[in-house]
Amino acid sequence: MALITKRVYGAEDVLPKDSYKWQFLEKLMREEAQSFGFKEIRTPVFEHTELFRRGVGDTTDVVQKEMYTFDTKGGTSITLRPEGTAGAARALLEHALYNDGLPVKAYYFVSCYRYEKKQANRYREFHQFGLEAYGTASPAADAEMICAAQSIFDRLDIGERLTLELNSIGCPDCRAKYYEALKKYFEGYKDKLCDTCLSRLERNPMRILDCKSPICSEIAKDAPVVLDYICDDCREHFESVKRLLDSSGVKYKINPRIVRGLDYYTRTVFEFVTDELGAQGTVCGGGRYDGLIEELGGQHMPSLGFALGMERLLALLGAAEKTIPDFDKCGLYIATMGDKAQEKAFELVKQVRSYSVRAETDIVGRSLRAQMKYADKIGAEYSMVLGDDEIERNKAEIKNMTTGKKSEISLDKDFGEGFIRVKIENEDNPGACFFTKEK
Ligand code: ATP
Ligand code: MG
Repeated sequence: MALITKRVYGAEDVLPKDSYKWQFLEKLMREEAQSFGFKEIRTPVFEHTELFRRGVGDTTDVVQKEMYTFDTKGGTSITLRPEGTAGAARALLEHALYNDGLPVKAYYFVSCYRYEKKQANRYREFHQFGLEAYGTASPAADAEMICAAQSIFDRLDIGERLTLELNSIGCPDCRAKYYEALKKYFEGYKDKLCDTCLSRLERNPMRILDCKSPICSEIAKDAPVVLDYICDDCREHFESVKRLLDSSGVKYKINPRIVRGLDYYTRTVFEFVTDELGAQGTVCGGGRYDGLIEELGGQHMPSLGFALGMERLLALLGAAEKTIPDFDKCGLYIATMGDKAQEKAFELVKQVRSYSVRAETDIVGRSLRAQMKYADKIGAEYSMVLGDDEIERNKAEIKNMTTGKKSEISLDKDFGEGFIRVKIENEDNPGACFFTKEK
């Protein structure tokens, strides 16, 4: 019975008192993505299961253990998206977005679903912001992708708290040699590896490097390193990425052990990590997936992207004691006495709201005293009392709740404009000049 008032394990609510933090981050990320020339893509929360099998990869933890998959009443297998890239790539193909010119640059905000063990900063429903660029093999695209992520962290003043770890995992050509070396190495530990890794040994031995089991990760420590095996083309590509990052002033650390959790990565892979969030230190991960579009049935189209975990970013901002500004202030509270005043108040708040300024009036039926207490509680910048007397004179006083200063204002058609003027004239409120009337 208590179930109906209990959220599902691993899912979180964002409460009204906290949502400004998400809105602040989303706004900043949109601005940043747009300044790099990315446009938003929105795709469904579910897709055909086969898309994730192919797109994310059969040998990954995500596909093997973590997907929320179910059959519809019509018998189609559907999966709640565990990540954002597969859906965006599917949309690229379905709508032939590449016909409008390459590269196609898109950003997304998605909720993701993975059946994982809940831990601090690890959830079953979580949120990602991500960038995608389709149709470019140039190392400049890799560098731009990384610069965009870095730029978001810098704007949030946490650039110094994150380390950018960089690696190249080569292309299928050079990887064949590497797989051989890995197989040889891990075969010596066949009796110790977990069952999942044993099955990966044949199909995708690189996945073993990403295994979270303590025994496997201990064995993986001395495994051959991919950077020793990459071909000349991949090496040159990697060098160019590094050069461009150097010239952009982006600092990085080469970590030859990063392989990323999804199957589709090739060449550049990267993670932004912090030691301030315990075991879940990866805030953002990405890289190149040159084979993905082909894997999904399209033509060869080198592509890349990253995904940034919103919950982890918020946790890091919290750990860094960064205060996120809450711009949501009530500009005006109108307290009313009597029906006439209430009707007038409805007309006046409408005018003020048309300037995108938050205005409220009583919708509970409180006494005047209780209304004023409420105005205080919500931190209204201005308040006004409307009674029969004010209605008759068609004038009222608005009070600056911080300074106590009162100004008389007429209640006619120009009330909204008059109120905004008072707000702008008020020295305490330099931000007021940003308000523009919505058309
Ligand atoms: P991890 O190694 O932490 O499991 P991952 O390699 O599975 O991460 P990706 O699939 O690359 O992660 O997802 C990108 C980002 O999304 C991660 O860096 C992280 O910030 C976030 N993320 C992934 N899984 C979760 C989760 N279960 N809960 C919260 N955030 C997550
Ligand atoms: Mg994972």
